[in-house]
This record gives sequence, C-alpha cells and structure tokens, in this order.
Amino acid sequence: VNTLEQLQTEHAPWLARNFPEQTAHQALLGAMEELGELAHAHLKAEQGIRGDDKLHMAEKIDAIGDIVIYLASYCTTNGISLEEAVWTTWEKVRRRNWQRNPLTGQIS
Ligand SMILES: [Mg+2]
Repeated sequence: VNTLEQLQTEHAPWLARNFPEQTAHQALLGAMEELGELAHAHLKAEQGIRGDDKLHMAEKIDAIGDIVIYLASYCTTNGISLEEAVWTTWEKVRRRNWQRNPLTGQIS
C-alpha cells in the first residue's frame, strides 16, 4: 500500500537534491499555483475551449497530483507529517453532519 507517509519519505531526498534551499513557503506557492491550474482546467472545460474533455480531465488529474506532492514538500520543509495531518483532520471532519446540523455540523 502506498501511503502519504511513503510519498513524503520518497519525496524528501528528491527535494534535498533538487531544491536544497527551499524556504518555508515555496512549496505553498507551488501548491497554490497548481490549484490555479486545476481551476484553469475546469474553466476551459466549461467554456469548451483549449482542448477537449479528455485533455481537461488529464490536466485536472495532473494538477491534483502536483498539489499533493507540493503539500508533501511543504510538510517536509516545515517538519510536519502529511500522513498525520490528513488523518488527524479527517477524524474530526468525518464526525460532522452538515445535513443534520447545517449550523455547526455537530451531531451531539
Ligand atoms: Mg502543473
């Protein structure tokens, strides 16, 4: 099973080799740039320009992959476990029920 921990572990030496001077926020900027590319793919698909649905879907998938990789990069540079961050937060989010309680999401 490939995990986010494995991704971060494999990415760390790649980062050290390629961007040894990465500052705390550079990967954040990269992730935001990729979010822009994801938005770009949605917009152009909706407008029916700059390629067909197949191309836009491929661009969306590529952007999503890049976003997660940039987040792994950000976590490494800032001493955060991506795996832990995701699961810790998911444990909170999974308990919310916005259908039952549209105001707070709390179920009890
Ligand atoms: Mg990209």
